[in-house]
Amino acid sequence: METYPIPMVPGPVRVPEEIRQVYLKDYGSGDLEPEFLDLYNQTEANLQKILQTQNRVVIMTGEGMLALWGALKSTLRPGDRVLSIATGVFGYGIADMARNLGAQVKTVGLPYDETIRDWEDIDQVIQTFQPKMITVVHCETPSGTLNPLAELGRLKKKHGVPLLYVDAVSSVAGAPVEVDAWGIDLLLGGSQKALSAPPSTSFVVVSERAWEVIHEVGYIGYDALQPFSTAQRDFYFPYTPYWHGVAALHTATELILREGLDAVFTRHDQVARFCRQRLQEIGYELFPAAQAIPSPTVTAVKVPPFIPWEALDRRARQHGLVVGGSYGPLAGKVFRLGHMGSQANMELVTRALDVLETILRK
Ligand code: PLP
Repeated sequence: METYPIPMVPGPVRVPEEIRQVYLKDYGSGDLEPEFLDLYNQTEANLQKILQTQNRVVIMTGEGMLALWGALKSTLRPGDRVLSIATGVFGYGIADMARNLGAQVKTVGLPYDETIRDWEDIDQVIQTFQPKMITVVHCETPSGTLNPLAELGRLKKKHGVPLLYVDAVSSVAGAPVEVDAWGIDLLLGGSQKALSAPPSTSFVVVSERAWEVIHEVGYIGYDALQPFSTAQRDFYFPYTPYWHGVAALHTATELILREGLDAVFTRHDQVARFCRQRLQEIGYELFPAAQAIPSPTVTAVKVPPFIPWEALDRRARQHGLVVGGSYGPLAGKVFRLGHMGSQANMELVTRALDVLETILRK
């Protein structure tokens, strides 16, 4: 089925009408028309507000993985030391990606149902390993968890680590992300999670230090960040700009700023709390460990022992509900409700939980 009346997949999420409308316009060439540059600059300014940063934002054509790869390839050389803090599929995955690029990677790994707690251990590892880059995931979507990052930013500054790389694909616009206060040098985001646009654009917030490293490394490729350092100044983008995609991202950021950042975060928080509480009342077991921080954008739930994931998924779909499965070691064991962006909606989540209750009763 193409569309479901109760969409709860943790991205791509339901696209609001106002964002869908921008795709109906027949835009000219983003390479030629100054209106495109204005739109790009306004979108950058809106993202800077949402992400609480003065740093420049690179907006790329393609979904989240493009930003994840582009930022690594643009800043790492073989042999560079990378400390990867991993609490789930994407945290361990980013460590593998950096290793693939020839980096010397050390992983501080935790079980998939945990979030970072032992700052002393991380402090020690940074001191002895002296990494060029620390990588971490803010919201581990497959686990439904949210890592606290302010303390990591403090440790990064304390030890003079050049680069802090943060995958916030699933938290941007659903939970506070304070790029400058947390000392983040490369912040990765995508359009189809809490921003509620189609999976068409990704973005990287790049600090001054990160620009220096990008120029030192000089990586050339489709996903390279370097050409974006002058793209706006010279109105010369490295490839044909995706006007529809940037317009969708722009409208998405406008909707968020119009609602107000605090209101948006409160809405996510309230819906997530309600979702977790009601799931447990119905008889489901949450996946994150009791001491872990659950994400306000996605809830991960254990597949009940008496119903295989495939059957649960099939029955949910029969009731018009579509949820997400999970990945890696969590595949078949965990399913997820994505209450992010347009889906952080009390009425929608209530309908989803009603279906899940019916399935469990039967
Ligand atoms: N990082 C996280 C935490 C994600 O949840 C995802 C997608 O689910 C990605 C990166 C990759 O994004 P995309 O699927 O848009 O390439």
